[in-house]
Amino acid sequence: MNAKLGSINNADFGDATGLVHVKEPGEVDVRHGMILYVEDVSVSFEGFKALNKLSLAIHDAELRCVIGPNGAGKTTMMDVITGKTKPDSGQVFLGQTIDLLHLDEPRIARCGVGRKFQKPTVFERHMVWENLDLARQSDKRWFRSLTARITEEAWAKIQETLHLIGLADAACQTAGELSHGQKQFLEIGMLLMQHPRLLLLDEPAAGMSDRETERLAELLDHLRGLCSMMVVEHDMAFVAALSGANGIVTVMAEGCVIAEGTLEQVKQNERVIESYLGR
Ligand code: ADP
Ligand code: MG
Repeated sequence: MNAKLGSINNADFGDATGLVHVKEPGEVDVRHGMILYVEDVSVSFEGFKALNKLSLAIHDAELRCVIGPNGAGKTTMMDVITGKTKPDSGQVFLGQTIDLLHLDEPRIARCGVGRKFQKPTVFERHMVWENLDLARQSDKRWFRSLTARITEEAWAKIQETLHLIGLADAACQTAGELSHGQKQFLEIGMLLMQHPRLLLLDEPAAGMSDRETERLAELLDHLRGLCSMMVVEHDMAFVAALSGANGIVTVMAEGCVIAEGTLEQVKQNERVIESYLGR
């Protein structure tokens, strides 16, 4: 794909002071191999520290699993990365140069950060393929040229995505008719229509059947390398399938990272056993 298609208007960045080094604002600078830096981020809700000096970094094209007990701050971390919650302190960078704390939610989305919430949000009355088309239209990159060629290209992208998410046969059903799991897949498809650089998935397997969970692991495995992903999940079999023998798993508790390593390594960690996995 032409990298320029992904570029973002300079106007999108306003007076963001953290961006003085950005040469091509739409391009995420992954020169150092990192897509995301979260550094010393703290968030308090009425004195309660939901995040307490949280630091982690994700490699470009990595699929990172994040686990941890309820209330550990996993969703709050995603809220901070996507601009929904502004932290009290700390830094969050997309690549080397894009300071996400200076951008609002729509701008962060336009930088290529896509987020999947736990509850699927699809346009129930629209057909499945129309949902993908609507997601495409919300991505300004497709508006660069309104020629027939682009329309064909867009259609091809819709078809490709329908196959990827296993909904080709349901293309002309309304989204409201889909099962809960299928809606989850559709929402991921909608995110993919926007060419994300980093996908944040908050408990994507929640409420899915075993078969759907397997299919989801296959889909995310397929996306590996196409975009970076951060997956928060409780289902340990799913985490094991995604992280494999060598993938890094981050364990959060009480607003910070308590362990990081392969799943086998973190499972042996005393703090992880105490606060999450149990004996
Ligand atoms: P997780 O996703 O790991 O289960 P959350 O990020 O949802 O954890 O929550 C972390 C803590 O912050 C919890 O104790 C939760 O009750 C609290 N919290 C989250 N959002 C808010 C909010 N908007 N107002 C007050 N407390 C909140
Ligand atoms: Mg959560």
